[in-house]
Amino acid sequence: MTKDEYAIGLDLGGTKILAGLVDRRGRIIAQKLLPTIAEDGEKAVIERVLSAIHDVLSESGIDLEKVSGVGIASAGVINSESGEVIFASNLGWRNVPIGKLIGQRFGLPVRLFNDANAAAIAEWLWGAGVGTRNMIYVTVSTGVGAGIISDGRLVSGRDGSAGEFGHISIDWNGPSCRCGNRGCLENYASGTAIENSARQKLTTAKEPVIDRFLVENGELTAKVISEAALAGDPFFAQIVKQAGFFLGIGAANLIYLFNPEVIVFGGGVMNASALLLPEIEKSMRDRCIAGLAEKVRVVTSHIGIEAGVMGAAGGIFEKPYCKN
Ligand SMILES: [Zn+2]
Repeated sequence: MTKDEYAIGLDLGGTKILAGLVDRRGRIIAQKLLPTIAEDGEKAVIERVLSAIHDVLSESGIDLEKVSGVGIASAGVINSESGEVIFASNLGWRNVPIGKLIGQRFGLPVRLFNDANAAAIAEWLWGAGVGTRNMIYVTVSTGVGAGIISDGRLVSGRDGSAGEFGHISIDWNGPSCRCGNRGCLENYASGTAIENSARQKLTTAKEPVIDRFLVENGELTAKVISEAALAGDPFFAQIVKQAGFFLGIGAANLIYLFNPEVIVFGGGVMNASALLLPEIEKSMRDRCIAGLAEKVRVVTSHIGIEAGVMGAAGGIFEKPYCKN
């Protein structure tokens, strides 16, 4: 039994806090799920985080000596080294030293990861990227993000914020993005983009049908649109496919930059992978120089909602993220 047998992974989300004790094979030995309830304020959320970790440790019965550290997967702008959440709109946090607070309470090393980077580590160690040294994980949900494994290590950047793939501009004169840039990929290819595109097309159709749609379906969400598309509705299928076309343009950029072996697509929007993946592959290959894209595999993620917990723990095992 070595000291580095287990790590704690913590997925710090806007709606839930999920903590898990993870072993070196990626198995979650014990877990605790708590609601975030961000409106209770920073102090209350931090207390819930600490109690989730405490519960996981005590319920598992594992000696603290065997736990190498705590990895946290968080949305927003982070500083991985200092363990600070600099800004997270889903939590309403600014400059919260969550890493330091956890370290003080449990006496363990703590490292903070961007949530997409954590999911990338999970896919690389235990999911769709096993055995590769160059893998990119792309998450497509409300927004678009990525985690990059290059030459056998996570590309984390100065602060741990590398991989903001959703904010690469694919149209210099496109619509303004919440980030300050214009024409960002996530404005064309996220769940939000799919909803906006459907709403606009339904509203401006020759015979506006949005009112009827809302009466029949309740809400115009990416999930409802994807389900209709998968069930064979050509109008919605076209909207979903268009998102795939744009994701393929982004993927071509990733190939030019990182020469990956595999690009793994995950996130809620990829529930429509049957429609999305062929479109992604087509536009990606159409836009890459001969020889560069042919060998790139494009696949869907293997790990589900535990990716944040598993990847944050995996990042602790892998520090400094080198497999050899
Ligand atoms: Zn942007």
